[in-house]
Amino acid sequence: MDQRLQPPAIRCFGLTKRFGEVTAVDRVDLAVEHGRRMVLLGPSGCGKTTLLRLIAGFETPSAGTLAVGGQVVAWPQYSLPPEKRRVGMVFQDYALFPHLVVRANVTYGVAKASDREDRVREVLGLVRLEGMARRMPHELSGGEQQRVALARALAPRPAVVLLDEPFSNLDTRLRSRVRGEVKDILTAAGATCIFVTHDQEEALFLGDVIAVMSQGRVEQVDTPEAIFHRPATPFVARFMGMADFLPASVRGDALETELGLVPRPVAAAMGAEVQVMVRPDDLVLHPDESSDARVVERVFQGGHYTYRVRLPSGAEVHSLMEHYHILEVGAGVRVRLDPGHPLNCFVDGRRHATTPV
Ligand code: ATP
Repeated sequence: MDQRLQPPAIRCFGLTKRFGEVTAVDRVDLAVEHGRRMVLLGPSGCGKTTLLRLIAGFETPSAGTLAVGGQVVAWPQYSLPPEKRRVGMVFQDYALFPHLVVRANVTYGVAKASDREDRVREVLGLVRLEGMARRMPHELSGGEQQRVALARALAPRPAVVLLDEPFSNLDTRLRSRVRGEVKDILTAAGATCIFVTHDQEEALFLGDVIAVMSQGRVEQVDTPEAIFHRPATPFVARFMGMADFLPASVRGDALETELGLVPRPVAAAMGAEVQVMVRPDDLVLHPDESSDARVVERVFQGGHYTYRVRLPSGAEVHSLMEHYHILEVGAGVRVRLDPGHPLNCFVDGRRHATTPV
């Protein structure tokens, strides 16, 4: 069927899960289109795992509905069991059967005997483990076990593969290699997937789309670029990297900040509460002992330093400078806004660009 005519692989409306007093997932509306990778991202306790478990069928919604491949599988107090939904799951600890060889682990979910041999060979090829079909899980490296878990999840041709923090068991160096491999495998399989992570860098790398969650709510669903450069809320801005906010007042066609003027968005009416968002790469520092702005911290990060600077008002901002610009803590600096792009500002909490539209 033409994919544009198909219902989304996953669709939830007002999906809510309460545990007693705690609302872990709060009125979430989401759609994941076929063949897309969505990342659920947010701080610890924001409800990512509970949302994934609702989609998998391990939890029953308190309110709202969920459809997988166009079939409604959960509504308040009803949940189709996980094995009856077309979902594949990769757990944090892979959850391989320790007493079964690789082939048997992968065969496990393929119901149709006629299809089994070919399909298992196909997915083992996809994850490049053809030669290891007879090994036991304990005879595999962490990265290889991860690929077995992925093959097992993909084998029954699920509508969606759900991956819960799948790289957190791997050490840092292995993690970046394995996540590249997993991304390639999922792309080759054309799989629709949902990852859960609290790691921003991982989300930017893996997601076609990122859903940023806070306190059970989805704050923004967007491409990685839009989430980073056009955050819908100050929470998303802060969560996706370092961000400082300069209070601003409207002055004619401009916004006046402690670091100078920036163009005023139309929405910023006289008297509105406006904050201009700056990231460390938007600010340049020049040594200037006559300035009242002072370096209060210097953090070495290899190719560059991140400086924390206290402005005369007491507000603090961060600046990313190349490693050969060395400023001492306590030094006076002139802080210049040099973003090279329109800045974001928040007017009464809503985002606007600082270029009038
Ligand atoms: P983490 O990144 O730490 O795993 P998370 O974003 O995945 O966090 P959840 O595990 O979904 O968050 O938890 C969301 C909220 O729901 C938390 O306040 C948690 O304590 C609560 N919660 C989750 N499961 C249960 C449960 N079975 N019973 C009671 N409260 C729960």
